[in-house]
Amino acid sequence: MIEIGGLEKSTLIDYPGRVAATVFLLGCNFRCPFCYSSELVLPEKISRQPRILEKVFFDFLKERQGLLDGVVICGGEPTFQKDLPDFIKRIKDLGYLVKLDTNGSNPEILKELMGDELLDYVAMDIKSCREKYDLAAGVRVDIGKIEESIKMLKKGKINYEFRTTVVRTLHTKEDILSLAKWIGGNPSTGSGQGKYYLQNFRAEKTIDPKFEKVKPYPPDFLLEIQKEISPFFEICEVRD
Ligand code: SF4
Repeated sequence: MIEIGGLEKSTLIDYPGRVAATVFLLGCNFRCPFCYSSELVLPEKISRQPRILEKVFFDFLKERQGLLDGVVICGGEPTFQKDLPDFIKRIKDLGYLVKLDTNGSNPEILKELMGDELLDYVAMDIKSCREKYDLAAGVRVDIGKIEESIKMLKKGKINYEFRTTVVRTLHTKEDILSLAKWIGGNPSTGSGQGKYYLQNFRAEKTIDPKFEKVKPYPPDFLLEIQKEISPFFEICEVRD
């Protein structure tokens, strides 16, 4: 059984170039202090979150066949729901493209899903540079698993993107430069690799209430970083 905590019935922004629905699965192994979705992450809030029945979700998808191109599966962190492969198969059987949003901490499932050709697009959050990963994820992270997911996506044949929510109190310019060197291509050989998006943090309700007072970086600052790290990627942009 899949635990569904929310459904956005139509979005033009969550799946690049597609009209999609976004389904929010419950539970996450990270505790990013700036996370906007505490109701999908913290057990005490999850227990109060209304569930959407799988049947209701699939009835909705059947109704929208031909009107929507794809489904974005996000969370929380979807890869820890043990029935995820079957859930995706059922979505694909209805003719939808599937995009997975993940924190990359579960490369075993990612490999299985990619191997079974169940994914059309993967967006992986890169929480910070290697050295500061735990701070941004709010837990101890097995960085080897993050690197495994990064390598798999860079080698794989499916469309993917990396992205980072840039938070003034967590990320310096040097951190993002170090991150770009870590995950990007090698600019000295003229080979920037992959797509990478910087997203400015905007204070909303956050897991750690202290972050609700954190101001976003000025947009020009992110553009300055983007200019410096662009050689590491094929595409590098600031997203609103
Ligand atoms: S931002 Fe962090 S805590 Fe929130 S859902 Fe994503 S990985 Fe989990």
